[in-house]
Amino acid sequence: MILLDGKKTANDIKDEIAIEVSTLIANDRKKPHLAAILVGKNGASETYVNAKVKACKKVGFSSTLVCLDEKVPESELLAEIEKINVNKDIDGLIVQLPLPNHIDEMKVTQAISPNKDVDGFHPENIGRMVLNLPTYLPATPSGIIELISRYNIKTSGKHCVVIGRSHIVGSPISILMSRNNLIGNCTVTLTHSRSKNLKQITKTADILIVALGKAGFVTRDMIKDGVCIIDVGISRVESSVTKSGWKLLGDVDFDQVKDKCSFITPVPGGVGPMTIAMLLQNTLISAKRDIY
Ligand code: NAD
Repeated sequence: MILLDGKKTANDIKDEIAIEVSTLIANDRKKPHLAAILVGKNGASETYVNAKVKACKKVGFSSTLVCLDEKVPESELLAEIEKINVNKDIDGLIVQLPLPNHIDEMKVTQAISPNKDVDGFHPENIGRMVLNLPTYLPATPSGIIELISRYNIKTSGKHCVVIGRSHIVGSPISILMSRNNLIGNCTVTLTHSRSKNLKQITKTADILIVALGKAGFVTRDMIKDGVCIIDVGISRVESSVTKSGWKLLGDVDFDQVKDKCSFITPVPGGVGPMTIAMLLQNTLISAKRDIY
């Protein structure tokens, strides 16, 4: 079994980005600049946003964090987005999800200018992804593709089973794995909460991508020998052995399945760090005006 080390791979990508930033600056270009909007005081969201801001610093980007009150009217959030859309100094904008219930997430997603949508969630960018046109790929699926690529895992003609059909992970990764690309050309089965006989399907997977948010959901009896497993899930569960009193678990029972796998991502240290690296990559692409 080979462990897909997302932490190391993400650090390699960040080092490569930092070199590109130095080149931009040496050529009298400005630093790439990522703006993030955080609404309310959700512990996990604050952690994610802070990690993104810290990562910007590490690669030499500028960053702006806009924190808005939990009760901010939707119109005020949209006005804040528009301010950033027209700010020529800012290359990328993300609005940390989830948003409070009174705000329409889809409206917010569509308010972000497609050319600054470095999360790759805007319908225009999703459409470009489906058509295999240059675009900002959603960060988590893009991180999975990059990890598969850097470990030279062959995908063409393989059966890829995806568990979960969210807009941010399951659906886009199923599209990417089926596209006619170097990493792609799989026969993809996208499964979800209404899928029947899941075990029969997962047992035929050469590549199994799991993103449903249920700790330890995939067990040994659900996989075949030699499968490559990408575990996207992150669940925070209580623990009596850690100092903090909690630990992070993936959607796959790692200890049970690891010796049956050809490749597997750990949690933490697998897909998570790759997501941030790809967000930085998209911001660099935007700063270099490579797409729009
Ligand atoms: P989500 O929570 O929006 O949706 C879950 C999906 O799982 C749904 O499509 C649902 O149909 C499916 N599902 C639920 N129960 C199922 C079952 N019993 N069998 C089959 N399918 C089932 O999904 P999400 O936002 O993609 O998040 C999934 C997990 O991935 C979460 O743990 C989340 O924290 C994690 N995540 C991690 C990263 C990262 O960077 N590593 C990024 C995004 C999400």
